[in-house]
Amino acid sequence: MFEFTKEQEMVRAIARECADIDIAPRVQECDRTGDIPQDIIAKMGTRGLLGLTTSKDLGGSAAGHVAMAIAVEELARVYPSVAFFLADNPGTMHIIEHFGTEEQKQGYLEPCIRGDAVLCIAATEPTGGSALTNLGTEAVAGDRAYTVNGRKLYISNGGIADYCALLVKTGDRASMLIVERGTPGYSVGRRLEQIGFKGIHVSELIFNDCAVRLGNVLGAEGGGFAVAMTAFAINRPTIGAVGLGIARGAFDIALRFAKERVLYHKPISSLQAIQFMLVDMDTAIDAAQWLIYQPGAALDRGVQPRDIFKGAARAKAAGAEVAARVVKKAMEILGGSAVSTESRLGGFLNDAMELFPAAGTGNIMKIIQAGEILKS
Ligand SMILES: Cc1cc2nc3c(=O)[nH]c(=O)nc-3n(C[C@H](O)[C@H](O)[C@H](O)COP(=O)(O)OP(=O)(O)OC[C@H]3O[C@@H](n4cnc5c(N)ncnc54)[C@H](O)[C@@H]3O)c2cc1C
Repeated sequence: MFEFTKEQEMVRAIARECADIDIAPRVQECDRTGDIPQDIIAKMGTRGLLGLTTSKDLGGSAAGHVAMAIAVEELARVYPSVAFFLADNPGTMHIIEHFGTEEQKQGYLEPCIRGDAVLCIAATEPTGGSALTNLGTEAVAGDRAYTVNGRKLYISNGGIADYCALLVKTGDRASMLIVERGTPGYSVGRRLEQIGFKGIHVSELIFNDCAVRLGNVLGAEGGGFAVAMTAFAINRPTIGAVGLGIARGAFDIALRFAKERVLYHKPISSLQAIQFMLVDMDTAIDAAQWLIYQPGAALDRGVQPRDIFKGAARAKAAGAEVAARVVKKAMEILGGSAVSTESRLGGFLNDAMELFPAAGTGNIMKIIQAGEILKS
């Protein structure tokens, strides 16, 4: 039986307070402006949500990966864009903490934990996010710096990031570099006009003869794929938790509506057809949560990221599936009210659909799982 610890429940309470007090009154503003205002990010920092997976000596709380998924889930119930912002962080923070030099750890982690700086991780290219081994962005080493040329696409927080973990080709291998905003030759291109996650900047990044210090390589030169796969394995369960939060948010809306909407002189919750839909939604949420929390629980027990690839891929896929399925049923329950923007379900549906390609498509999640199953 899976039980949350007292500390994890405390994180849930903090995240819920953050969602209700700091974020809920600002959702329309964020959607309208297409931004998560800096003061909201700073409040997430002050409440300790940005450093949940980072060790204490680097400014975090080391509350763990389950605690991070809980925080993401709670924020997603209220505003999935902010949840996605948080969900995309732990993998990048982890690779800096575990592959970075002292200088990199000290320089990059604390500002991000405080909410004074933003990270992104850039792997996808216009030639296809699934074909990551076919990198076109290249870094050529000189005496003191790499010269980087290429383009990255669909990068979450790309438009606002202060530090970018950038997957590049170095010779016939891949390396991960950290590139700071303002580095000459590094610019932000087109922002994707998205159907969902309206508060998140998903952008193209352009590298044009961009000089990046040799010391900015993260981990060993040539070891970039292992670094990237580590980050993705850690981010996928938290991205799954965005889906779980969306599903819970949609379920809450549907349950409230079913109890309040009166037809034939009775609330529609007395109709068995509505009850069955609520049961299906509740069951789907219950099943998905085990898949989504398991990989984080394994990491918290000391299991290495390499050994959670299957569970992490499954958690991400489960998050997207449960969100889409539960939101659709919630929309059925709300009838005509579902299509009003006031119901928030349309926004949830669009956010849910974006979870399918984010951090790897459904097919790629299956390929990862099949690879791990066949190895066993
Ligand atoms: C909201 C959002 C945020 C994102 N954030 C980031 C980010 O921060 N950093 C980043 O690097 N990327 C990011 N991405 C990009 C994301 O990782 C890619 O969209 C994803 O990997 C798919 O790549 P693609 O869009 O190029 O599709 P493609 O790779 O072109 O795939 C197209 C279709 O082909 C299928 N396909 C491809 N290969 C196979 C195969 N071998 N077998 C079967 N089917 C296959 C896919 O499943 C899909 O259906 C983000 C995307 C979204 C939507």
